Amino acid sequence: MRLKFKPWAKEYIDNSQYFIHNEEELNQVLLSNDKIRMEFGSGKGKFMYEMAKLNPDIMFIGVEKYESVIVHCGKKLENEPLKNLLFYPIDVFELQNYELLKNRLEVIYLNFSDPWPKKRHEKRRLTSDLFLPLYANLLLPTGYIEFKTDNQGLFEYSLANLTKNNYILTEVNLDLHNTDIPNVKTEYEEKFSNKGFRINKLTAYYKGE
Ligand code: SAH
Repeated sequence: MRLKFKPWAKEYIDNSQYFIHNEEELNQVLLSNDKIRMEFGSGKGKFMYEMAKLNPDIMFIGVEKYESVIVHCGKKLENEPLKNLLFYPIDVFELQNYELLKNRLEVIYLNFSDPWPKKRHEKRRLTSDLFLPLYANLLLPTGYIEFKTDNQGLFEYSLANLTKNNYILTEVNLDLHNTDIPNVKTEYEEKFSNKGFRINKLTAYYKGE
């Protein structure tokens, strides 16, 4: 994601009803909704927006660490509001301290996560040992991860690392767009598939220790 510094982004987000601003606000959402799904690294929010539109009885929350990126999601909601969609500008890693979020998520979506190909940056990958135990904590016992990427290296790494971290893979697809599996495309997905890249997808459940 190319970043432009947007000094107005913070102020806009602070004053917008389409964002969660702190743990208390998230807790309110958790208490007043039954079904919750999150995308980690939601970027400009296209996927979350379309999913929320298709599934009005499920609450969707997009988590994205850069305010200058997530700010676009508020603009989208201003034009066409949806009751079941919110965005939270925070680093996913911070969610480890959130008590009410434990065992709450139906689905965690990871879409086109940054590949961080250098070994010394491995910990930053959203499918590294730093993050996978956290997701296991946040997911319902019936909850699962859906991960899509065009990046072969990151996909292979994630297959191996999910297995190592006690997840069971129930779907592994190496060319998603050549199947009839229903699919909502993300921003990056459109960009990369238009360039001819194959799209990989996996689904993983946590099987416990
Ligand atoms: N899911 C979107 C964007 C993919 S780019 C799409 O498919 O179009 C990956 C995004 O993940 C970037 O916007 C990046 O800022 C965000 N990201 C990376 N690490 C993160 C973290 N630890 N917490 C929150 N967001 C993160």
